[in-house]
Amino acid sequence: MFTSTLPRQNGSTVADLPTDLFAAIQSLKKELNAVILAHYYQDPDIQDIADYIGDSLGLSRQAAQTNADVIVFAGVHFMAETAKILNPDKLVLLPDLNAGCSLAESCLPDAFAKFKAQYPDHIVVSYINCTAEIKAMSDIICTSSNAVNIVRQIPEDQPIIFAPDRNLGRYVMAETGRDLVLWQGACLVHENFSEKKLVQLKIEHPEAEIIAHPECEPPILRHADYIGSTTALLNYAQKSPKLSFIVVTEPGIIHQMEKETPGKSFIPAPPMNSCACNECPHMRLNTLEKLYLSMKNRSPEITLPEEIRIAALRPIQRMLEMSK
Ligand code: SF4
Repeated sequence: MFTSTLPRQNGSTVADLPTDLFAAIQSLKKELNAVILAHYYQDPDIQDIADYIGDSLGLSRQAAQTNADVIVFAGVHFMAETAKILNPDKLVLLPDLNAGCSLAESCLPDAFAKFKAQYPDHIVVSYINCTAEIKAMSDIICTSSNAVNIVRQIPEDQPIIFAPDRNLGRYVMAETGRDLVLWQGACLVHENFSEKKLVQLKIEHPEAEIIAHPECEPPILRHADYIGSTTALLNYAQKSPKLSFIVVTEPGIIHQMEKETPGKSFIPAPPMNSCACNECPHMRLNTLEKLYLSMKNRSPEITLPEEIRIAALRPIQRMLEMSK
């Protein structure tokens, strides 16, 4: 059982890696009473060793319910921060502290405070992909799984600011018919898909259904047969009678799609350039080696000022209540 008095073994390096990383991580999991939570966009190796794999909503729920003493969060910083907000007394580890998020970084607290001050009658609904400071300035948090449902529950005469993702905000506007004031943030992965290449791919695979994440730009979403969160895309691929899919989100999700739907094929949608820019560079900073070292060293740890944590907790709890 981990307690805060256990010594930390700082300074371990890649040279100290055991030959069987999977076995070493399993053993550390028992020693620390740790749970490994991993996002669908993580490397397949990390997904395979995780106790729970999910999207932001599923991971938040798991973080809120866990009995583990240590949460190892294989995802990006704002996700591990959310786990810490929900579990102030637990040790929350992020394998690489530099695993940030371009969307979260597109909404900085000072600028957002000024923006918010222009709309004093509005409440703030923020997508979970934002920093703890932005969550602390929000009334309700949402994820791509529940954003439409949450906005539908807010009285029609209540004006709303939606932050930080303008594409998810536009999608929610289209689905609910509500007029939202949007913060103009975007995700570098989802705004980088090429409409021209997507159309070309569909011509080459006319039988394939296009399934897309709502963080994509409207010209991409126009071509989608189905739009949903990563979990919703996975469920859709399982239930659809179609055998092939063009997947317009971070291609890490394809590992689970292939595992859970044998016999079906998944084609990653192409980015604008001939690079791997449809892979999230932040998510991909985590590796199995870093995950092992973070558990062995009990570091890097997520910490938060208590006043920010308390202020950020309220809108997350509202989300969890509203999406039961
Ligand atoms: S895929 Fe986009 S929204 Fe998700 S962590 Fe990476 S940069 Fe952030």
